Amino acid sequence: MRILVLLGAPGAGKGTQAHILARHLGLPRIATGDLFRAAVRAGTPLGLEVKEFMERGEFVPDETTVRMLLERLDAPDASHGAILDGFPRNRAQASALDESLAKRGSRVELALYIAVPEDELLARLSGRWVCQAHGHTYHEVAYPPRVPGVCDVDGSPLVQRDDDRPEVVRARLENQLGGLREVVDYYRPLGILRVIDGRRPIAAVTADLLDAIEPKPYWRA
Ligand code: ADP
Ligand code: ADP
Repeated sequence: MRILVLLGAPGAGKGTQAHILARHLGLPRIATGDLFRAAVRAGTPLGLEVKEFMERGEFVPDETTVRMLLERLDAPDASHGAILDGFPRNRAQASALDESLAKRGSRVELALYIAVPEDELLARLSGRWVCQAHGHTYHEVAYPPRVPGVCDVDGSPLVQRDDDRPEVVRARLENQLGGLREVVDYYRPLGILRVIDGRRPIAAVTADLLDAIEPKPYWRA
């Protein structure tokens, strides 16, 4: 099982890169935020449970999040592994993931931290447009879709997320940065943390990620 973890603050580019890496590596992208949003839209018991946390920009409790993630990892399309986008978000989630992978004889291969300064995150989130069908992501200035309001990949309508309003963005950053530091500190001593400069254009960040995941032999570099 090949488990790659994408880390970064809200707006760092995890979703954007996770979609691209999923295509390159033939692994599913598992995004806890997307799973929660789908549950909220469908009005399931899980959706009702998590809605208010998301509206306030707070973490959903670990127990619920871990259970949902592990169930998703059990699906047949993840039998060879997955790219995790938005999980783990604190130390408790990171160690719950490790324990569960150890039972399957597996472990996290790499934790890829996409680092972006805070002022840039605010600009990215306020211009973000996301497709409802699969979470493909655009930016109204930096990466607009070919046709305004329509996803290039699957033609579904683009929407702005409720929690991308500036007040909620600030709450999300405040609530998440501590957990992000915990997760980075968790993976660093294991020797599997890679820090990627997320300020560069999307294609350059992808190239750096792929280099970290599958380093070229020195005679081809
Ligand atoms: P995350 O999943 O980490 O919250 P997203 O992938 O949704 O982040 O990206 C946030 C916003 O920033 C989107 O509008 C996206 O189009 C834009 N974006 C992503 N990567 C870059 C980049 N390298 N440079 C500039 N804008 C980017
Ligand atoms: P972002 O673009 O900010 O990285 P996500 O789509 O990953 O946002 O997450 C949206 C919301 O879903 C979060 O603000 C939080 O309420 C909830 N959420 C997503 N992943 C987790 C997680 N691993 N632990 C707790 N809550 C989560």
